[in-house]
Amino acid sequence: MSNYKNIKFGTKAIHAGVQPDPTTGAIMTPIYQTSTYVQEAPGVNKGFGYARGKNPTREALQDALAALENGKHCVAFSSGVAATDAVLKLLSPGDEVITGDDLYGGTYRLFTKIYEKFGIKFHFIDLTDASNLHNYINENTRLIWAETPTNPTMQIIDISACAKIAKEKGIVMVADNTFASPYLQNPLDLGADIVMHSVTKYLGGHSDVVMGALITNSAELHEKLYFVLNSSGANPGPMDSFLVLRGIKTLHLRMERHCYNGRIIAEFLKNHPKIEKVYWPGFPEHPNHEIAKKQMRDFGGMISIVLKDKSIENTFKVASSFEIFSLAESLGGVESLINHPATMTHASIPKEEREKAGVVDNLLRLSVGVEDVEDLIADLEQALA
Ligand SMILES: *Cc1c(COP(=O)(O)O)cnc(C)c1O
Repeated sequence: MSNYKNIKFGTKAIHAGVQPDPTTGAIMTPIYQTSTYVQEAPGVNKGFGYARGKNPTREALQDALAALENGKHCVAFSSGVAATDAVLKLLSPGDEVITGDDLYGGTYRLFTKIYEKFGIKFHFIDLTDASNLHNYINENTRLIWAETPTNPTMQIIDISACAKIAKEKGIVMVADNTFASPYLQNPLDLGADIVMHSVTKYLGGHSDVVMGALITNSAELHEKLYFVLNSSGANPGPMDSFLVLRGIKTLHLRMERHCYNGRIIAEFLKNHPKIEKVYWPGFPEHPNHEIAKKQMRDFGGMISIVLKDKSIENTFKVASSFEIFSLAESLGGVESLINHPATMTHASIPKEEREKAGVVDNLLRLSVGVEDVEDLIADLEQALA
């Protein structure tokens, strides 16, 4: 299917990007496990020269991902971090980036430990109020990097408001849409220039692939990002591309269930005597609930909790007491996971910075899977007890 502009999300998830294989009619795009392509004469080929640059399985996946984000172009990378890295490679020494103060730990590490030493300056600010941008934008500002919902405190950043300011000032605006997935939120429609995904999470959906992607409507940005991919070489493999193509066919079904389970679990946790605080953007009292309602179709299955007992020993004990939730980094897979950000996903952020952003030692993050919610509630009940 090539014209998927006017069809609905679930149909797109199943059909976008994939055509029956022209030689056999295979309904699934084959895994083109090859590094090179035979040329008829020097420079005469079928559009494929060397597989770092182009691979048919990857091409099909990129078309599908672009369609899901209502974008024209997609470049897939070997990880989400590699996709972020490619965006940063568009910058030069002296350029400045404005980003949020609650970020995925690996993004923070890439910014501060790799790119600061190449002379890029980063401002980590409260982006939940987009007007804060005005205090930091100057003639060197090249990039606004917004992750929303944020990880792990589930702040919501108003993508339209940030994009509007970015556009006025000629700054590129990137949205990390990993937590929402394209099912819940489409940043390009809200004015963002680039959408970044850790495909590892909801898009892959089965905890069996590490991959990243960038999607844009700008031919110019696409050309530059593709140039980085081909020059720096963080390309995903064909087998992984196939797994993600398969994964996204059920994205809409999985997301429906993640959202359904997420809502029930968030309500359950909110009334639990051992819990101090629940971060979930679906609560009307969540400080950014109105923006979440405006820019997201539902509220997802990511929930963070702060335990009343502040000790790290108790937090570890709870984290290790689950039978169905698995203690692991990552999120967005069919199975429920529990994570201790302070020592796991966010360990690369200094304690002081972390705690300023609310990532305290007694915070746990849940990625609610698609199991039967009664079993998940029972597991939470016994682990918290
Ligand atoms: C996991 C994650 C990343 C990094 O992606 P990888 O695929 O692990 O390299 C970036 N942003 C967010 C929000 C993430 O959750």
